[in-house]
Amino acid sequence: MKLILLGPPGAGKGTQAKRLEESRGLKQVSTGDMLRAAVHDGTPLGLEADRIMKAGKLVPDGIMIDMIAERIGQPDCRRGVILDGFPRTVRQAEALDAMLASRSQGLDAVIEMVVDDAVLVERIAGRYSCAKCGAVYHDKTQQPKSPGICDVCGSKEFKRRPDDNPQTVQARLQEYYQQTAPIVPYYKQKGLLRQVDGMAQVDAVTRQIEAVLEGL
Ligand code: ADP
Ligand code: AMP
Repeated sequence: MKLILLGPPGAGKGTQAKRLEESRGLKQVSTGDMLRAAVHDGTPLGLEADRIMKAGKLVPDGIMIDMIAERIGQPDCRRGVILDGFPRTVRQAEALDAMLASRSQGLDAVIEMVVDDAVLVERIAGRYSCAKCGAVYHDKTQQPKSPGICDVCGSKEFKRRPDDNPQTVQARLQEYYQQTAPIVPYYKQKGLLRQVDGMAQVDAVTRQIEAVLEGL
């Protein structure tokens, strides 16, 4: 199965992708996580991406398309993937179609998570994650069951993203509406688009996504 979780920053894509990994045995492929790994490793791509991400802009299409082409060909993606953060432009969407077609594959569904801007800003302001396993939390809405201890792996170390600040968030939302929103009609026209109410509680969003997948 090949799914895209689509939605603005803070919509809950990463949170739901991790749940689908557990429930469906799919692999989450997050281009944001891949870029952050490159920044951490200090590669030439990481140095360029760091500057762009801190400004809330998009990394050039050519770089992202090459990155995804290489990633989805790896063995751990054979059972299926959940794309989280890719595609983000119509050009990326077209390139993805071509790359899947060349392997005689296609997308099963594009699930758009719809959330109001004011809520997105609050979610991003309170987001943090486990430094070891990447499980996502929120200061108010999604705290670990035992304070300071990751529910998933037991680590006591957490981190926040440098781009999760009020200035960058506005730029990221602007990029979303200008560059990424046009892929919604692109997939609608192909009959692949499904919408879920991303404002609902995490469990309720998961149930909506599972219902979409049952219906495929
Ligand atoms: P994205 O991957 O789309 O940027 P995340 O999954 O990282 O979004 O979620 C952003 C923040 O919102 C995180 O702090 C997460 O814990 C929280 N969150 C995710 N889904 C919900 C939800 N349905 N209700 C409330 N908070 C949520
Ligand atoms: P994310 O973790 O999905 O919120 O992405 C964090 C940042 O990484 C974005 O603000 C972009 O700068 C960059 N990025 C991630 N995925 C892409 C993509 N598909 N195309 C361009 N830039 C991306």
